[in-house]
Amino acid sequence: MLSATEQRLVDGIARRHDELVRDLATWVAVPSGRGYSSALEEMRGLLIGRLVKLGATPHEVQGAVAPTWLREGPTNAAEPPPFLVCRRLRPNAKTHILLCGHVDTVHDPAGRFNRLVISQDGTKATGPGCADMKGGLLVAIAALEALESAGVPVSWSFAIVSDEETGTFHADAALRDEAARGYTHGLVFEPALPDGSLVVERPGSGQFMIECRGRSAHVGRDFVKGISAVRALADATIGALSLADPARGLLVNIGPLEGNDATNIVPDRARAWGNVRCTNSAAQATAKEGLLALNANHGQLPSTHVELLFNRPSKPKTPAVEQLAMQARSAAESLGQQLPFGVTGGVCDGNNMQAAGLPVIDTLGVRGGGLHTLDEWIDLSSLVQRTQLAAVLMARLASA
Ligand SMILES: [Zn+2]
Repeated sequence: MLSATEQRLVDGIARRHDELVRDLATWVAVPSGRGYSSALEEMRGLLIGRLVKLGATPHEVQGAVAPTWLREGPTNAAEPPPFLVCRRLRPNAKTHILLCGHVDTVHDPAGRFNRLVISQDGTKATGPGCADMKGGLLVAIAALEALESAGVPVSWSFAIVSDEETGTFHADAALRDEAARGYTHGLVFEPALPDGSLVVERPGSGQFMIECRGRSAHVGRDFVKGISAVRALADATIGALSLADPARGLLVNIGPLEGNDATNIVPDRARAWGNVRCTNSAAQATAKEGLLALNANHGQLPSTHVELLFNRPSKPKTPAVEQLAMQARSAAESLGQQLPFGVTGGVCDGNNMQAAGLPVIDTLGVRGGGLHTLDEWIDLSSLVQRTQLAAVLMARLASA
């Protein structure tokens, strides 16, 4: 059952459907694909404007610089804007909620997939970041706006990350510091699973690079004097990929690869970048040990050198997470919605926030699919439904 106040919240949000779709179209048209700093700044500006109107004060924290080997690899990005948090805290409140979302998308800022296209019947739309996660950012902000206009006092802060899709290397420390500031609940607005499920458990994730050195030589004249770094890298990548053991919760992926730029020279340097995902600490230990064991022949050629960084700790379903998930489910049921629980191999900023000791649920955003592809889509009715869910959940957390 909804209380009278909750019913008012829900009715007010239902009337905003068209306005939310218009906002989403505006936000999706901002090309905040990876590394495109001016669009990231523009998106941040749009969010700050809305949050400041609600009484929040923005604070920026300069992020860390990701290690060179990582910046040169697939997660390469121009230095993103600083970590941003907009705080609207009420010191006497018993609960303090940290909301979090990211403004970056995986899409090519100069690509043709660049705006929100709504289906004929108006129920769905496609567009870069419409689900992951501009739709989610909109849900979070619209919920806060609804609470404010219904006069429901909630103590909250909104953390805005600009490099989530490349691993949150830049914002990690600042986000964890923020999460450790005494909040009681963490809510992240990543897209729901396609059936609307709430993810309650996530693996940890790490990045690595394998670099091999050899000796270059002209293929025709001096082949036997050459030592191929690509050959060494091939052995090392097979070694790394062989560590994968999905049944035990360990996934290993490699790509991209790099090895000189001509076919008639024995390559003296080759590199590969990869990603590991571990559902438990034993799998993480196996991955770490196995990857570091590929280090070989320092001082001799060919040599193999491995760099490794576990940047997203696993996010287990702790009793506090379970309790928060049950509160979300109960809010959903009061709204006549279903909220099944699910698991995913994906990782997100919820991992980093929970590692700072904060119980977090992290798929409170919109329903949709095709994430990270040119078919990314959103179920437009989920804008209102998920805003209602977030608003009722926050109202209940605040009054508990
Ligand atoms: Zn995302």
